Amino acid sequence: HNHIDNATPEKVQAAIAAEDTHAHLPDYETYEAYAATGGYETFKDLRDNGNWEDVQEKVLASGLRGLGGAGFPSGKKWGFVRANAGTRYLAVNGDEGEPGTFKDRWYLERTPHLFLEGMLIAAWAVEAEKAFIYMRDEYPAVLEILRREIAALESAGIVKPGYIDLRRGAGAYICGEESAMIESIEGKRGMPRHRPPFVAQVGIFNKPTLVHNVETLHWVARICREGPEVLSSTEKNGRKGLRSYSVSGRVANPGMYLLPAGSSITDIIEACGGMANGHSFKAYQPGGPSSGLLPASMNDIPLDFDTLQPHGSFIGSAAVVVLSDQDSAKAAALNMLRFFEDESCGQCTPCRVGCEKAVKLMQKDSWDQGLLEELSTAMVDASICGLGQAAPNPIRLVMKHFPDEI
Ligand code: SF4
Repeated sequence: HNHIDNATPEKVQAAIAAEDTHAHLPDYETYEAYAATGGYETFKDLRDNGNWEDVQEKVLASGLRGLGGAGFPSGKKWGFVRANAGTRYLAVNGDEGEPGTFKDRWYLERTPHLFLEGMLIAAWAVEAEKAFIYMRDEYPAVLEILRREIAALESAGIVKPGYIDLRRGAGAYICGEESAMIESIEGKRGMPRHRPPFVAQVGIFNKPTLVHNVETLHWVARICREGPEVLSSTEKNGRKGLRSYSVSGRVANPGMYLLPAGSSITDIIEACGGMANGHSFKAYQPGGPSSGLLPASMNDIPLDFDTLQPHGSFIGSAAVVVLSDQDSAKAAALNMLRFFEDESCGQCTPCRVGCEKAVKLMQKDSWDQGLLEELSTAMVDASICGLGQAAPNPIRLVMKHFPDEI
């Protein structure tokens, strides 16, 4: 890669020219194609004549919630950030590090300008002085697309050169946690901050910062252009809206599936063309390893925000992994804890030591359930951030639903 952090337009152009020789880019919608079908008209209209509260109302009416995993109502954040005077920033969380999640990549490799326009609308709504995009380095094609298309936006005069600051992540899962991401953007080691204060008050360089996930901004653009109905008109099993499920594992056709938010795992497997040949459905991870594992018998729960909490799980970023009779739930849970052990930032003892001890206990032929439960409680109660707090979910769910294996 060419290193073009702190890029000037000249440096971006030079980097693009240099990378042309080996760029293998998907066939995505360029600025020219997007603008030719009315792209950026909504943003320009809002910027010149719009009222941010009208947009906020639309976004709230759509039911859009943060799609990075936390599910916070998107429009509400804007008010929190605006409540703070002075310089404000916007930061896009493009770290997408939750194992099994690839929906942001799917959108960025196809329609990057819906995301970029949504980002400019959100930045306008909170009067952000600058927009940072924190993009994981594991997505080289996406980085290249963004470099090219940000340069195109600058050339077209849609944004001032330098307004959008594209930053590359360096492979740390924890930098997908918003306050760790902000530390990383500031050039420090990515470690989560204590809260309060929240990043809406004290964010990048201590300025109020609006943080949004990539897909959330994709929908902001669509809501502004097509109306809140683009999400709110879909209803299934009492849930409203759409979810982008990243599906992998033992299904016939793994991939990204945009389905009603009330879809159950049965619906999702069906959308994937059923189970892979020779496999029968045994268990599933509903939303990344932090969500643990649920058994096939729990196959009718709508996989949406709030619906999984009573079962000790959550939907997170909707990274669905399907396991079959040929997989071990115990081995899967151990794999998840090994991942957390590797990715713990190490700043707090319950997580740093807890993940390591959990792995040791889970490697044994039979699990000491009492001790693992005690350890899980300490991790949930005393860890600083979501990594350590959610890491025990796979342990607890496997103890509950797959007792024969442990
Ligand atoms: Fe770091 Fe883990 Fe503590 Fe989070 S819970 S701050 S990842 S050590």
